[in-house]
Amino acid sequence: MNLQPSSKGLSAWGEVSPPRGAAVLADPLLNKGTAFTERERDVLGLRGLLPPRVFTLEEQLQRTLISVRSKATNLEKYIYLTTLQNRNEILFYRLVIEHIEEMVPIIYTPTVGEACQKYGAIYTKPRGMFISLRDRGHIAEILRHWPQPGVRLIVVTDGERILGLGDLGALGMGIPVGKLALYTACAGLHPSYTLPITLDVGTDNAELHAGAAYIGLKQKRARGADYDDFIEEFVLAVKDVFPKAVLQWEDFGNTNAFRLLNNYRHRLPSFNDDIQGTAAVALAGVIGALRLTQSKLSQQKILFLGAGEAGTGIADLFVAAARDEGLSEAEARARCWFVDSKGLVVKNRGDKLAAHKLPYALDREPIATLAEAVKIFQPTALIGVSGMPATFTKEIVEQMTKLNSRPIIFALSNPTSKAECTAEQAYTWSGGKVIFASGSPFAPIELNGQRHVPGQGNNIYIFPGVGLGALASEAREVTDAMFLTAARTLANLVGPDDLAVGRVYPALTKVREVSLQIATAVASSAFDAKLAQARRPKDLEADIRKRMFEPVYRDCV
Ligand code: NAD
Repeated sequence: MNLQPSSKGLSAWGEVSPPRGAAVLADPLLNKGTAFTERERDVLGLRGLLPPRVFTLEEQLQRTLISVRSKATNLEKYIYLTTLQNRNEILFYRLVIEHIEEMVPIIYTPTVGEACQKYGAIYTKPRGMFISLRDRGHIAEILRHWPQPGVRLIVVTDGERILGLGDLGALGMGIPVGKLALYTACAGLHPSYTLPITLDVGTDNAELHAGAAYIGLKQKRARGADYDDFIEEFVLAVKDVFPKAVLQWEDFGNTNAFRLLNNYRHRLPSFNDDIQGTAAVALAGVIGALRLTQSKLSQQKILFLGAGEAGTGIADLFVAAARDEGLSEAEARARCWFVDSKGLVVKNRGDKLAAHKLPYALDREPIATLAEAVKIFQPTALIGVSGMPATFTKEIVEQMTKLNSRPIIFALSNPTSKAECTAEQAYTWSGGKVIFASGSPFAPIELNGQRHVPGQGNNIYIFPGVGLGALASEAREVTDAMFLTAARTLANLVGPDDLAVGRVYPALTKVREVSLQIATAVASSAFDAKLAQARRPKDLEADIRKRMFEPVYRDCV
């Protein structure tokens, strides 16, 4: 098992003809900027190319932090950080890791959404690969243009459903770039192991067709066989060129997301974070909440608002977990009800239900509103994944509080403006009884002298660890059992201090330790299930820990 790139893969020091001068400064994995020592400046021909004062990494960090904080808007901060990442990756990752709570909302949601919308205008230097319909027949050849041969983790999007922003076509590139930066920051995956890819299959966004700054193909989205053949060629090319890579499907439209996951999950190690990562993080929150309600998972009744990738993904994982506690599949499914844009998901509703909703379609008369569904179903947990704000009303929260001494209410829709209710509303309307979590961060609330800290059900707790575990074990498949393992591991890492303030997730500052524990559990489950192709080390956790990328400068002469 090897988590570090070979010296061949990295443009490492000590090669036969190491880069010198401007070439060193142009390589973000080699460049130390003002931190090159006097001796390095002499040996590498850097004299005159840098200002004379030599800084330590800590001094550079302080200077950089001041620069980031001086930017007026989050988008300006995003642009600054992207430029830094393209210039000096050690400094970039050191900054992100040491200030994770401040930097994650910039390099990922919510700022990355705005960055994607303006990607055409702020685009300066390519990062990752764009593969378009025009490349059909040559995709493997094109993947070989990537300068790092040892890619182990690919995040790929076709830009059809970027966060809650819809079809952004090729502008969606910000998402794979951001997610892979999180892999490095949160799970210590070496940057040279990561490859962001955008598949440009056209866009149905008319504004992009009209815009001068749009960087993608100005044509309608490929659908049907055209689309499927393109994806098939892409997957075969990935298996050929990067045979050890794990593939993460990201922000695909609803119909393609489920199909692609199911078509390819047994053919290469792959997963969909929007479906499976969300499921694991939400389920971990519910399991964490049960430590406060003192009840079992199999006793829960969950009402979902929204029956898309996130909602049905969470329910599927809940069903798997409840079966482990002895329920039959039918019994477990009957504990999940869904209300979507057309009311309760029932068999005879008159519309054609999408395949992912069918297993949850109830054989009963329709119910039009969420409030009515709460009264009839009497859920222990209410989970919002609808993208519809102000849908968890005062009446609904009060009803949930009548039904349960500690109601579980998760308003997971992103960004903050789309959350089904705010943290303040949930705590106030429930008289402080709610166990609340959200998709976007909310500030802690003081109520009747008690401090409540809302948990953030951020996928960042799950996917970096799952991906790291899969690649550390060289798993042939990424299974639902691995996501269940990840959810349980995360829930176990919630400490008494977290629970005391009602927080069902650990603090984000612990995310590297969380990822390590999840990676170890996932890799272990791959070895146990005989899905691992790597040799099992004696001490799996120590082995993974030792190989995690730490952003520190190495002496290079
Ligand atoms: P999706 O498009 O696949 O599904 C959305 C669902 O909401 C659909 O079933 C739709 O019918 C339903 N819906 C739309 N309007 C509704 C209404 N007025 N009332 C009830 N239901 C309605 O999207 P998704 O990927 O499932 O994501 C849904 C939301 O969950 C998004 O806001 C996303 O930001 C959020 N999400 C959060 C996390 C997280 O917090 N970790 C992760 C993934 C997704």
